[in-house]
Amino acid sequence: MTAAYYAARAGQDVVLVDSRRVPGEKILLSGGGRCNVLPIESDPHGYATSSSPNTLRKIVQSWPLAEVRKFLEEELGVRLIEQKRTGKVFPATGGGEDVRDRFVAALRRKGVRIVTRTKVVEIRPSERRRVMLEGGAGIVAEQVILATGGLSYPRTGSDGGGLRIAEALGHRIVPTYPALVPLRNGRFEHTALAGVSLPVRLEVGAGRTKAIGVGDFLFTHVGYSGPVVLNMSHHVTRALAAGERLAVRVAWLDRTETEWLDVLSRGRGTLRGILKQDLPDRLVDKLLEELDLWDAPVEPMPREARARVLAALTAYPLPWVDSCGYREAEVTGGGIALADVDPRTLQSRIVPCLHFAGEILDAVGPLGGHNFLWAFATGRLAGEGAAAVREA
Ligand SMILES: Cc1cc2nc3c(=O)[nH]c(=O)nc-3n(C[C@H](O)[C@H](O)[C@H](O)COP(=O)(O)OP(=O)(O)OC[C@H]3O[C@@H](n4cnc5c(N)ncnc54)[C@H](O)[C@@H]3O)c2cc1C
Repeated sequence: MTAAYYAARAGQDVVLVDSRRVPGEKILLSGGGRCNVLPIESDPHGYATSSSPNTLRKIVQSWPLAEVRKFLEEELGVRLIEQKRTGKVFPATGGGEDVRDRFVAALRRKGVRIVTRTKVVEIRPSERRRVMLEGGAGIVAEQVILATGGLSYPRTGSDGGGLRIAEALGHRIVPTYPALVPLRNGRFEHTALAGVSLPVRLEVGAGRTKAIGVGDFLFTHVGYSGPVVLNMSHHVTRALAAGERLAVRVAWLDRTETEWLDVLSRGRGTLRGILKQDLPDRLVDKLLEELDLWDAPVEPMPREARARVLAALTAYPLPWVDSCGYREAEVTGGGIALADVDPRTLQSRIVPCLHFAGEILDAVGPLGGHNFLWAFATGRLAGEGAAAVREA
């Protein structure tokens, strides 16, 4: 929608084609309905890509955050409020529905023709009727912007069809993976911890490629979620897509061994009693059951038992088996290789009448409005880029 808006703003006749009843369905679901439309601060280093991170950063920085806010506030008419505690920006009223409706209204004001419930199945660059629709009809277009999203939440219309279209035209597709996605557990008894949440440090992988994240962790009925798990999940799923299983280790409360040794030396009584002063009861019970130290006293504790307790507190191996997949992934990693587009216009380097925008490209942002920021920034570049080709 941003791409269509900017192409129309540059004076072009624009048709927006969408397979759903109304475009922008994900905006309705976003931020739990409240729509975390932007971050307060941009974080170009927080994105993940298998393409050039430099190119990615150049693209994110192409539209300063203050200008994006101006677009939302002045051109769409969305009043924004900041949530300082989380670093997120939301619409002041109306949530995602208001943002989506204002997008559609702004497109209409700019004269964009919106064709819905219509699926694009192929792009034929050598023909005048380039945009082929399901059912056999075609749309005449000089320039085409493909912004079909990834594979996440397929019920909102993004089913990976756009990636197949781009691939058929010779573009390199970085293998896709679910991102911002909960993990499934492999240990049935962890279901008993559903609802327990606490801050943690998460370490994914080992050695040179080890990634570390800090934030809130949540046990769910099927596994593990919470901001830190979602933000770190792409490391796990990207490796999994390449056939590698990464170890995920948890430091409860983000504490070190030394800090826990301090806690353990605090007093007498049972280990359980002492740990429960700091950690949720159910988690302590589960950890001690797994360690077979249910009734152990803190003093005296054999050295071997102490080492096992410290390991369970600072490097607990999370027994994940899989991610919850595209059905629950907020975004899709991988996609069209950034090397296949001109970063200034997002024009394809392979098919000159084609531009790309949004999640279809090989980039995923962290939680906090960074994925909409990517959609807006790439949309503007592609819209203006496509308009400029037509003018040239
Ligand atoms: C539950 C959920 C919550 C989220 N919350 C946030 C949040 O709070 N903040 C944030 O920044 N990001 C959030 N995201 C991510 C954000 O929604 C996406 O990054 C963003 O919508 C991507 O925009 P896009 O236009 O590239 O793709 P999409 O929004 O997926 O749009 C693609 C469009 O293309 C259409 N389409 C697909 N294939 C075809 C075809 N062959 N023919 C015609 N039309 C087609 C689809 O119908 C759809 O309308 C959330 C995502 C989900 C799933």
